[in-house]
Amino acid sequence: MSIKECERLRRVGSTGCIDIAEIQDEVPIPQQIDKFWTSASNKSKLELFARDVAIRDIKYTTLVLSGMVVDGEVLPAQLFEQPEGRHTGDIAGLSGWLEEADARIIPHTNWTVEKGCERVVVLSNDTDSVVLLLRYMEYFMNKHMNELWVQYGVGTKRRVIPLHTLCRKLGAALCQVLVKAHISTGDDTVSKFGTKHSAITSHPEMYLANFAESDDLDDYEIQTAERYLVQVWSGSRSKTTASTFDELRLQYHTRRTAIPAIDDLPPTSSVVRGHITRSFFVVRGAITLLDDITALDPTNFGWSNGDGCLKPKKHLKRLPVALVTTCNCGGRCESNRCSCRACGIKCVSFCHKKIKRLSKRVTTQSRSSHDNRARTGISNTVVSTFALVLIIHT
Ligand SMILES: [Zn+2]
Ligand SMILES: [Zn+2]
Repeated sequence: MSIKECERLRRVGSTGCIDIAEIQDEVPIPQQIDKFWTSASNKSKLELFARDVAIRDIKYTTLVLSGMVVDGEVLPAQLFEQPEGRHTGDIAGLSGWLEEADARIIPHTNWTVEKGCERVVVLSNDTDSVVLLLRYMEYFMNKHMNELWVQYGVGTKRRVIPLHTLCRKLGAALCQVLVKAHISTGDDTVSKFGTKHSAITSHPEMYLANFAESDDLDDYEIQTAERYLVQVWSGSRSKTTASTFDELRLQYHTRRTAIPAIDDLPPTSSVVRGHITRSFFVVRGAITLLDDITALDPTNFGWSNGDGCLKPKKHLKRLPVALVTTCNCGGRCESNRCSCRACGIKCVSFCHKKIKRLSKRVTTQSRSSHDNRARTGISNTVVSTFALVLIIHT
């Protein structure tokens, strides 16, 4: 079960989805392309069709077809050598359970580099691929790869970026953490958080260097990641001193100008920590693509099974019962029937609706110049009670 499935269903809900029965040479490209891409079955049919075309029409010296997962089964990666079109078999190292094409780029590049290739060109229009490749850059360089290019864009906007040069300019420390910054500020599986500009300028190399480098997510890593996200949320020019989202919410709510509405306040720390836990799971998967390790269980990292797909848990922290309790007592709140007393808290101004209504009436009367009469009325009662007592005793 994929963690992307829920997000895909959400997108289907907003745009709708058209499933194509069969994809062949004569099938035109659909005009409503958004509805085409929201269907997972369209994607795998297109991928299968691209494999057929590659075997039939493309005459490279060597052709490696990526492995893929179709209907829960692994279709192995295959190697063809031209000009004879000789099928030289499956490539075990490239046939895995990686469903995402972006992720499969890494083992493929690794395989190529291990075969002695010094210059690799990757065709991709996706930021995910670029940040992933930058993460593995040093590893590939150590295996004697010299150049890694990424081609993106179409037509006159086609560009080829030299990642080896970019890597030198950014520095090794930033290249190692860019993928973590990208995922934790929103990718296909984790919610969007701040802007990508802010994600880069908020010093991810300072905060995220150790994030997800092992299978354990401890409190210190969560706190450090939260501090990073506070910086991302408040923007690169912000001088906030907050280190948690709860502090940031308070700062936003109590500042003198531009106070956001309740709905626009930053999320609470408990919700953000759920987001960090999910980011940890995704980052851990992304940075261990070449390691032979057991995959983590998403249900231990902020997802839960529901309606046939994995949904993100909300991590809402409800207000303590004692904080939201009020009572409706008419008396003096002296027994445990009073909900405030049962919780061990003092009554607040929202309690005692009956008394409040009563006192309101008295106040209204006082304001309408019956003040003296009301007070005299009370005195009369007291006087007559005394009189009664006196009569009884005489
Ligand atoms: Zn009460
Ligand atoms: Zn009360």
